[in-house]
Amino acid sequence: MTSVDFSDVTGARLVLAARETISPEDGASSAAATPLVDSFGRTIDYVRLSVTDRCDLRCRYCMAEEMTFAPRPELLTFAEIEQLVDALVDRGVRRLRLTGGEPLVRRGVETLIDRLGRHLGRGLDELTLTTNGTQLGRMAASIRAAGVRRINVSLDTLDPKQYQRITRRGNLGKVLVGLDAAHSAGLAVKINMVALAGINDGEFAAMLAWCCDRGFDLTLIETMPLGLVEENRTAHYLPLDTVREALAEHFVLSPSTLRTGGPARYYEVTGTATRLGLITPLTQNFCAGCNRIRISATGTVYGCLGRDQHIELRPALREGDVDELHKRLDCLVSGKPRRHDFQIAAQTPAVARHMSVTGG
Ligand code: SAM
Ligand code: SF4
Repeated sequence: MTSVDFSDVTGARLVLAARETISPEDGASSAAATPLVDSFGRTIDYVRLSVTDRCDLRCRYCMAEEMTFAPRPELLTFAEIEQLVDALVDRGVRRLRLTGGEPLVRRGVETLIDRLGRHLGRGLDELTLTTNGTQLGRMAASIRAAGVRRINVSLDTLDPKQYQRITRRGNLGKVLVGLDAAHSAGLAVKINMVALAGINDGEFAAMLAWCCDRGFDLTLIETMPLGLVEENRTAHYLPLDTVREALAEHFVLSPSTLRTGGPARYYEVTGTATRLGLITPLTQNFCAGCNRIRISATGTVYGCLGRDQHIELRPALREGDVDELHKRLDCLVSGKPRRHDFQIAAQTPAVARHMSVTGG
């Protein structure tokens, strides 16, 4: 029996599932050729990979003012990340999103993006990025040159003072320069906006109009109870169906047939090239079609954003043990939870780790 760190709030059933999946006779060569399919029949072909848990901002709903970050020696090196991506592509992963923390503050990240871009057309169909946009002014062109075609940029307001307040230290002007650079470089942009009652709830129509003018898509996200922050998330929680109804007074929204395998429901904004996405983990569960796993910057792989189930991949990567790496991936995927268990009114967050640790 392979020894792995395996934990989940649902306990025994998942451990059993893991043991049923992994046996000494499992050969690496057969594992390497096998797609990652979980016990509910969901095929994992999408990975979100955090390259750092650090960030140059401190968004109030995401991080606490004082955060403790992973010691740098624990971060996967670029060589380890490449080894990991090789293994994931071997197992049928077709789409990779780099995230964080803020992925673009990791030193040398352009080199990493360039190296990962070489997998495109050789197993990998798409390499994307989620960023707060602060570094795009200087990096957008090289990101595009590496093969990235679209990016998500988080922007919760267009008001400079409000931006400073939400991010605790951000400069909106810098992000707008970054967005211009992304546009000029030919990167398609989707804006991610977390809906916050009492904070940015008067700005959705203006943000959507702004996105329509620029040809950006917009995705609104319900705030999720991940990790302790100073703010009371319950007080700022806003169900997105009411937001959609309010937007429908200003825009003609028609449900889109687009299905990405991701959590968003999409609407076409009639008369524009913009699509509106709604991510509603609290009001509408989207787990049945989940196609993804998430890997932290230190090599912990999670089956679900809203659960504790995880396995450490770093020991296998540090030892260069590809067989063990595949076994650990099998173990994680076979025990992938059926669904998250977010409850905004709960006194403690669904999971103790912040979104910036798991890789949002
Ligand atoms: N730093 C990058 C950024 O902000 O885009 C990437 C990492 S960030 C954790 C990824 C996404 O998670 C962002 O769109 C952010 O707004 C969102 N996010 C962070 N904490 C969240 C929470 N508690 N609930 C909902 N969305 C959250
Ligand atoms: Fe940083 Fe992104 Fe979290 Fe904001 S949401 S603190 S930019 S990781």
